[in-house]
Amino acid sequence: STSLLSSQMKKSAEQYQKACAVIPGGVTANIKYIAPHPIIMERGAGSKLYDVDGNEYIDYLLCYGALILGHGHSVVFEAISTQMREAGTTIFGTPHQLETVMAEKLIELYPGIEMVRYTNSGLEATLLAIRTAMAYTGKPKLAKFEGHYHGGYDQVLISVNPDMDQAGEARNPYAVPESKGVPDYYVENTIVLPFNDLEATEQILRTHKDELAAVILEPIQGGFIPAEPEFMKGLRKITEELGIVLIFDEVKTGFRLSLGGAQKIYGITPDITSLGKVLGGGFPVGAIGGKREIMMISAPDGGRDILTAGAANREKREVLFHSGTYNGHPTVLAAGLATIKTLEQAGVMNALFDHTQLLRKELEELYRNYGVTMQTVGKGSIFNIVLTEEPIKNYRDMGKANMQLRKEIDYELLKLGVYIKPLNRYSMSVVHSKEDIARTVEAHESALKRVRK
Ligand code: PMP
Repeated sequence: STSLLSSQMKKSAEQYQKACAVIPGGVTANIKYIAPHPIIMERGAGSKLYDVDGNEYIDYLLCYGALILGHGHSVVFEAISTQMREAGTTIFGTPHQLETVMAEKLIELYPGIEMVRYTNSGLEATLLAIRTAMAYTGKPKLAKFEGHYHGGYDQVLISVNPDMDQAGEARNPYAVPESKGVPDYYVENTIVLPFNDLEATEQILRTHKDELAAVILEPIQGGFIPAEPEFMKGLRKITEELGIVLIFDEVKTGFRLSLGGAQKIYGITPDITSLGKVLGGGFPVGAIGGKREIMMISAPDGGRDILTAGAANREKREVLFHSGTYNGHPTVLAAGLATIKTLEQAGVMNALFDHTQLLRKELEELYRNYGVTMQTVGKGSIFNIVLTEEPIKNYRDMGKANMQLRKEIDYELLKLGVYIKPLNRYSMSVVHSKEDIARTVEAHESALKRVRK
């Protein structure tokens, strides 16, 4: 029953054929493909998506977690139209006040952020974070964790989703390129670490300490597998001792695990934080923030005497180069600020967490009643459905789950009006209602009945 999407998606199939003639594979990101064809969307409203055939879906993709206020929230629409009306333009191309307003907000919310720079995506944010760490330490290598995603570029397209027969020992993984076209250089200069294994991680870091500029990690792998608190504590301690910059990639956890991200929940302060997704209120954005001393390396004069000396006094190669036509886009920052303001209202985040918890609990109960082995794994407003009872602590543990059954269920859910990318996690928004939750649980029940036939 995983086979085809139903005849109710004819127009999607037709539109996909057209796309395939002009776009490789018909998709603008490989992960957006769903066999036999993606569902082509036309409209969104609150917690719902509507496809070109007029089918309605309760959306749990939420643009990979970005749309924490759901689709078309009025505060975002109002903020961007007010901003453009008052500014009289979409973007200035010069410094403007919202850049500082947002930076002050991020500094207030994130313990690890003392200064801020903007980018246009999460990808660019982690790239800038890594370059900043390399510039600051003068060391050439990066350590990342197996199974962790930091964006689609060479340096971090290593061991994101490696085949087990190429990935080496669990406690000392190999660096495996994730894509064709990734130069060997990055395979050789990236150290891969086992997530939630402090002892092995410490050993590898000690071995490579003189070459390692930074360790980057998702505090919650894939948005749903939490770092263990003791692991986080140990990682902070050892990186500090060894002079390795600790980068929290909070592109997904930022504003979702808490308004101050994972660092606020864990009580661990990273040296650099990358942000994206929710920060842009549904528009492309990224940012990095970190310790003043580290961040100042990208000031035009290296921070020596910025107001009087100016850029001319500094050797070009001493400056960390950071640029971007659209960095700090005022319309985007207006959308992001409106989003954050909404999330800051009393009770909003807690209601979001309560609804997520309710959905998880009801799904766990349902699967138990149907005798299907299952657990939900996650923290905050994102979780995943994992069809195994084995504990899930890292990338390799996911291999124990029944992916085939999960896929069959997900395909049925699509036909039943629940939008979940097959095998993907569930993101919740503040506008997902109790009724949405009840309908989602009903859809799961129908799906379980169908796949068990
Ligand atoms: N880091 C993490 C943790 C992410 O989840 C993502 C996006 N899924 C990125 C970086 C890359 O962000 P973007 O897609 O905006 O480039």
